[in-house]
Amino acid sequence: MTTYTVGVDVGGTKVAAALLDESGDVVRRSRAATESGTYSGMVAGIVAAVREVRDGLDVAGVGLAIAGNVAADGSHVLFSPHLPLAGEPLARDLKDALGIPVLVENDANAAAWAEHEGGAGRGSTEMLFVALGTGLGAGLVLRNELYRGAQGFAGEAGHLTVVIDGRACPCGSRGCWERYASGTALVAHYVERGGDPEVGGPGITRAAAAGDPLSVAALADVGEWLGRGLASLVAILDPGVIVVGGGVSEAGDLLLEPARRRMAGSVTGVDIRPLPPVVPAALGNEAGVVGAAMLAREYGQ
Ligand SMILES: [Zn+2]
Repeated sequence: MTTYTVGVDVGGTKVAAALLDESGDVVRRSRAATESGTYSGMVAGIVAAVREVRDGLDVAGVGLAIAGNVAADGSHVLFSPHLPLAGEPLARDLKDALGIPVLVENDANAAAWAEHEGGAGRGSTEMLFVALGTGLGAGLVLRNELYRGAQGFAGEAGHLTVVIDGRACPCGSRGCWERYASGTALVAHYVERGGDPEVGGPGITRAAAAGDPLSVAALADVGEWLGRGLASLVAILDPGVIVVGGGVSEAGDLLLEPARRRMAGSVTGVDIRPLPPVVPAALGNEAGVVGAAMLAREYGQ
């Protein structure tokens, strides 16, 4: 009998579930997005989404991919910027309702694991994953294992200070990396260069692909800042490969070439060390769901 797993993307306004078979392929998706404004409403939405894709099949574990700080044991969320979660026993409450082991995972960590297992990071024992979406998230695979840190806070690279007294960040600090390298930052660079703020990140990416110089320059700005930050992380981690995901990565080399150039110009010892390749993610926006489901098979509780 095939044993399936379920991955759930828990966002601020929607809950979407996917059923994966043993080889990690998505074979079914929940159709409806669900409101998740309160904790009980969110739990009910997750339960309904999981039941919809499960549909009586034997499921080994449920993995949740959530933007926020997740406890190192995968039992609950300590803080989430967009969700009503602050320490509630989420894994236990869901297991009580579903009767299946549940794992809570940070969304960038989950996506990193999926890219390592079946995407652009396959075959590398030391992988750095960076996702450029609304903010900047990162996940680390070290010695072939997802690295969560002592408290589960590892990989919060979006709030590395890259500019002293730089742009204000919602986290309360200034000059955070994600203020310069993210989808939000792409629009900021575009506007700084005289672009219309109404165009938005995907519109800028589309215009850049069509050759619009302003859009190409704004993407190159993000790439430059991406490369600067990556150089610092390379100095600490010495990864074998850097996988770049998130919506902005769909710009491909318009983003990654400036990043590679800047990284090569900023890493210390570049004349004596081979630099890790900087490659686009392979699994798209379902990587978090897939990775969470894969991890739940092993670590669900
Ligand atoms: Zn910040």
